[in-house]
Amino acid sequence: MQKEYDVIIAGGGLAGLTLSIQLKMQNPDLSILIMEYRDTIAPTAAHKVGESTVELATHYFREVLNLKEYLEEFELPKHGLRFFFKSDNKAEISNRVELGPRLKLPTPSHQLDRGTFENFLEKHTKSLGTEFMLGARVKDVNFSASKEEGHEVIFNHNGEEQKLKARWIVDATSRFSLLKRKMKFEKEAPHNVNAVWYRVKGVVDIDEWSDNKEWKNFLAPKLRYLSTVHFMDKGYWLWVIPLGSKNTSIGIVADEDIHPFNTINTYEKAMEWVKINEPLAYTKVCPPKEELLDFRILKHFAHNSGRIYSSDRWAVTGEAGAFLDPFYSPGSDFISLNNTWLSDLILRDKAGEDITVRAEIYERTHLRWFESWLPIYQDKYKLMGNTQIMVFKIFWDWAIYWSVPCLLFTNKGFTDLKLLKELFVSENSLGRKFGDLNKRVQDMFIEWQPHEHKIFSDKYIDPLDLDYLKAFQQGLETQHDSVALLQKLRMNMNVLEQVASEMFRLVSTEVKGTPEDMKVNPYTMTLNGDIDSTSPDALAVNKEIKKEVEKMWFYRKALVNS
Ligand SMILES: Cc1cc2nc3c(=O)[nH]c(=O)nc-3n(C[C@H](O)[C@H](O)[C@H](O)COP(=O)(O)OP(=O)(O)OC[C@H]3O[C@@H](n4cnc5c(N)ncnc54)[C@H](O)[C@@H]3O)c2cc1C
Repeated sequence: MQKEYDVIIAGGGLAGLTLSIQLKMQNPDLSILIMEYRDTIAPTAAHKVGESTVELATHYFREVLNLKEYLEEFELPKHGLRFFFKSDNKAEISNRVELGPRLKLPTPSHQLDRGTFENFLEKHTKSLGTEFMLGARVKDVNFSASKEEGHEVIFNHNGEEQKLKARWIVDATSRFSLLKRKMKFEKEAPHNVNAVWYRVKGVVDIDEWSDNKEWKNFLAPKLRYLSTVHFMDKGYWLWVIPLGSKNTSIGIVADEDIHPFNTINTYEKAMEWVKINEPLAYTKVCPPKEELLDFRILKHFAHNSGRIYSSDRWAVTGEAGAFLDPFYSPGSDFISLNNTWLSDLILRDKAGEDITVRAEIYERTHLRWFESWLPIYQDKYKLMGNTQIMVFKIFWDWAIYWSVPCLLFTNKGFTDLKLLKELFVSENSLGRKFGDLNKRVQDMFIEWQPHEHKIFSDKYIDPLDLDYLKAFQQGLETQHDSVALLQKLRMNMNVLEQVASEMFRLVSTEVKGTPEDMKVNPYTMTLNGDIDSTSPDALAVNKEIKKEVEKMWFYRKALVNS
């Protein structure tokens, strides 16, 4: 009789490989087959994007998948995200406002050479007993009508069409989107941004981009080099990412309305574009075309998905599902969450549990999460030339990321049904308030833009100088039981509400001349209408938080009498 697998994963990229490892670690008896279209070993450097990791995915790779040793030996440690803002003189880097950590971060992260990493993951998952078939192109699936029988997967291998059966079929084919196209649950994401990227040979250390000794020595050697560096201005950012193979990844991500795709979609055009927008980078990271390791383009990369998990034993993971934007390097975070929900469903199903309710809750939470993360990016590339707004925004975006989803993930909260219900079900639940508060703050950034144009220079700003941000980042790996976790999340939400109110108070005073001690309701605040200062939800000044928020305010010295 033909073998029937527990799981067939179509696509052996980052999402598919890590899912197989997560599953095998928790149940070595599961039979898993990965079918991967590529028919040779993955090349180093010039393979895929998805090189920079942030805290949530780092926890997934290091702690959940136990890859700490590999990452420390074969990939680069990362020194956070680093931003250089709009400048009057882009030919000199040392005057640009710079945002990034000065000292080594307490919670680690990594720069991944995707080819090296995938080759290692393939070897590792095979050592755990997963079968891995190279040169296999999955074409279709015939879903079984009965719970007892597996689905039939149709694929091409060695020039022949073949069929195999599995209880679960997981689509990890990225943009090939096997299941989405078959079942027509494609969904657009209203965020029109494009990207081009390439890899250059050798190390690029931006400390060497200036002769200004004071600037060079402000950070310990190699810290800037190990950061994911963003050069930004209105409508775009350009990345520089170091790779363990001693090569460098360069990319441009730009809003279609401001820098149309047809101005960057060939290497020649991209170089013209860099020459105009980032003239210093043009002299450092734009070699003749023949010297490039690769050059890739991707139009309108953001996409949503109508479905993710089904109790009929199919699912999507990675970019075969939803993908938003790489500005904060969150792609692997979504994979970590996706795989964590999915492996929980597969393992429970294997153990004979009815997964109907869980599959529904996980899918709803996943899709809602995507919706609540969308305002972070939608229309925000238009703000990238406004330094003061972007500094507020980047610190806000980190605050919301570290204080709730990261903490929930490291504490296994996303598979705790009781907690999820508590967090997301009622109208007034913490999860919904979190989404509403974030939307309100993101809208404030847009309302602020017509009033804020100043170009700043000669400033350095470090997220870890803000006590509440530092506390969020340092607390990421702390383990809480579910009662304490809920309490901690509530406390973090209180801090976020205070931060939102203090940011608004500062901006509103500057823009509209409102009193510096005005009470603010963070859930209704707007620069374009009446301000609710009288309802019980309006918050008074919190001196400590105000002091912290003022550290990112470039206009005035501290307002608070300490
Ligand atoms: C411009 C840009 C920059 C990014 N930067 C970052 C970043 O810095 N950090 C980060 O975390 N994320 C980043 N991402 C996101 C990251 O690239 C993705 O999250 C990640 O690569 C997706 O992994 P995946 O496994 O879904 O897809 P992939 O790794 O692409 O794997 C899909 C696999 O499926 C195979 N395949 C396709 N069709 C078939 C088929 N029919 N049959 C069998 N196999 C098939 C392919 O060969 C491939 O190996 C970025 C994304 C973009 C667009």
